[in-house]
Parts: sequence; C-alpha cells; structure tokens
Amino acid sequence: MQRSNSLALFQQAQQSIPGGVNSPVRAFRGVGGTPVFMDKASGPYLYDADGNRYIDYINSWGPMILGHSHEDVVKAIQEQAAKATSFGAPTGLESKMAELIKSMVPNVDLIRMVSSGTEACMSALRLARGSTGRNKVIKFDGCYHGHADAFLVKAGSGVATFNIQDVPGIPQAVSADTLIAAYNDLKGVEALVGDHPDQIAAIIIEPVAGNMGCVLPQPGFLEGLRSICDNSGILLIFDEVMTGFRLAPGGAQERLNIKADLVTYGKVIGGGLPVGAFGGRREIMEHIAPIGKVYQAGTLSGNPIAMTAGYTTLSILNDNRGLYQQLEERTESLHKGLEASAAKHRIPVVFNRLGSMISLHFSEHPVLDFASAAASDIARFNHFFHYMLDNGVYLPPSAFETWFISASINAEHIDRTVSLFDSYCAGL
Ligand SMILES: *Cc1c(COP(=O)(O)O)cnc(C)c1O
Repeated sequence: MQRSNSLALFQQAQQSIPGGVNSPVRAFRGVGGTPVFMDKASGPYLYDADGNRYIDYINSWGPMILGHSHEDVVKAIQEQAAKATSFGAPTGLESKMAELIKSMVPNVDLIRMVSSGTEACMSALRLARGSTGRNKVIKFDGCYHGHADAFLVKAGSGVATFNIQDVPGIPQAVSADTLIAAYNDLKGVEALVGDHPDQIAAIIIEPVAGNMGCVLPQPGFLEGLRSICDNSGILLIFDEVMTGFRLAPGGAQERLNIKADLVTYGKVIGGGLPVGAFGGRREIMEHIAPIGKVYQAGTLSGNPIAMTAGYTTLSILNDNRGLYQQLEERTESLHKGLEASAAKHRIPVVFNRLGSMISLHFSEHPVLDFASAAASDIARFNHFFHYMLDNGVYLPPSAFETWFISASINAEHIDRTVSLFDSYCAGL
C-alpha cells in the first residue's frame, strides 16, 4: 500500500505541531511506523490522503457509532451552520438535548454540557469535592478519565501506550489526593476507604473499561463499589465517555443495571463534534453555579452546531433501539470468527467484549486489569496492527485501546477482517 502523501503530510505537520499530531496516540509511536493522514470518510470506510480505503474500527475513538458522514447528521449540521455557528447565549436546542438525554438515562435529573470528555470528568470531580467537602478520589489503574491533573495517574490509554510512569507538570500535592486501586479488586478499594475515613469524595470508574483494551467488570464488582459508596458517603462517578449511548440507550448504567451518583459523557454524545456532559441527581447537581458555588463554565458549551450533531445522533439511536441488538450481533460474529482462527492456528488470544466494544490481547491469561493487559504480547499486537493496516483495516494504533463497531459495519466487512486475521495467524 502506497502512502507517500501521508508521509509528506506527516513531515510537514512535525514542523509546526508537536510530534505532528494534536493527540499523542495518533502519532503511531506505540505501534511504530508513521501515521496515516485522512482525507474523507463514509459509512464504514476511511479514505487516506493517498486515496487508500480502510474499514474503520476506531470510529474517531467511539463517536461515529452510526458510521461516518451519516446523511441526517450532516444535513442537520449544515442547516444549523447556515443559521448560526455560536451565540454564547442559551438556546432551546440545549433543553431539547438535555431532555432527550434524561429520557434515555433515567437517573439523570440535571445535566450540564461541556466540550470534551476531559472537561466532563474534571468538572464532575470538582462537583464531587465541592458537594462532599472531601478532597480525595479513588481511580483505577488503567482507567482514563481525560487529561486533567487529578486523573493522569496510572491513566491507561496513551499514557500506558507511551509507558509514561509519572507525568511531569502534575504537582505532587495534586496527585497525592488520587488513590489508585486495581480494576476488579474490591478488597483493594475497601482497604483504601478504611485507611482514609471521611476523606474520599468520589470513586470514579469506567464501568466497562476501554482504555487498557476492553476490560469487563467481574460479577459483583460494580455492585460492591455501589455499596462501599453508600456506606461511606462517597459519590460513585461512572465515566461513561466511552460506554454512554454505546452499550445501551442508557449506557452502562442500563446495560449493567447499576446506578451511579454522577455520570460523565463524551464521544457518542456529540455525534462527531466536540461535546461532553456531566449529570446526576438534582441535589448534587444544584451545587453547580449559578445555583451553587461550584464554578464551571465554557465559552462554547452547548454550541448549537455541536448540539445539533449530538441531538440528531442520539435521536436516531433512541428511535431505532434494534440498532443495539444489531451492533451486538455483528460484534459477536467478529469475536467468534477471530476466536476460531486463533484456535485453529493455536495462537493464544484473549478477547474481551461487551455490546459493540471489543479488544484482543495476545495473551494466555485472562485480562482483568491493567497488569494483565500490560502482560500481553505488545510486540505481536504492533506487528498485527501493521499487517491489518497494510491490508485496509484500521485498528486502534495501540494494544491499550478498544475497537468500536459502527452500525455501518456489515457481515462482509467482518468476513474480510476475520479472513485477514486468519492469514495473519497462519503466517506466524
Ligand atoms: C476519551 C475518554 C475521555 C476523555 O475524553 P476527551 O473528549 O478525549 O477529552 C474520558 N474518559 C473516557 C472513559 C474516555 O474514553
């Protein structure tokens, strides 16, 4: 596959953008080689600057659940852009969006829009601290909650991809308030809570982890966190930036039948435009300014074009609930196909999957937390990644990321992916 235009664009980008990219994992440093520069996208396909076509399993890291350039979403964006691009004043669109979200997610009474998942998590933590009067937060090794200071400790995703142990620039005074437990380790959480009585404002978790590859909560784990929080006056924050509107209309809360006190959203909620949100029970959310004193604001928060893209995407998901079933079936058939090839060629692979999230780890041992994810054969993943890329399948460029299936991936794309995996395994 010829990619000379991508290479030239990458060389140009490095002259004026750090590392040539505006978000680190895009640079392909984890997997080696040079990034593919994109030009356009449609349905399940990406087209790069050299005109090569790829089946897309990243989907912009999650948002494009309907596939790329969905006709209704594009039309809604165009119509709104012709009316106005931004006011910095309230619009009815924002209430429509909030009401739709509330109808999809039953335990959200109030919701505030922001412009990224990072902002949503950062603001939810401030709110948890401001409303409980406590400072500490428990997060899990390998979970990513955006790049705010408090969360860039054992942060999974790009931080894990680049094997960065301590991020320079984060004061010790800030990271000292972030306590770390292993994913799926309830005993570890109990110990931290016991050691810090009345000091912990919140436990924040990806209810299905997606930033160390996909890692599922083991039965009883989230329920255990819920009861620890209830018993100790701690707020449970579900970071649903990845899982929200993807695992079910009501996200992981609905899919796993467990309720958080605060929830954060991003990715799918914006339908490909920059949107994040945090919401929860009224009495907690009322601590936010202008009702309460916990200050939080944004020049472009609730931006009309972003709201339109998000609203259109969520409406389509809400009106076509069969889509979730379809996404799940497609993902299952991908899983079964890949698994059968791995077994046939005796290649040890662990698959983790829920809904339309799936990842594979080249490993002989179950992947239940960051340590087991990191113990997988990363070099083999990187080799596999390039094999797939060179054959027109665009996977996340890191062993620590989840693959996303969009509604425009069909049986043919899955067969193609499985048959490539089969030839890859045959060649090992
Ligand atoms: C992507 C992600 C974030 C950060 O969202 P941005 O929009 O990139 O700032 C936070 N939490 C989780 C679980 C994510 O997957």
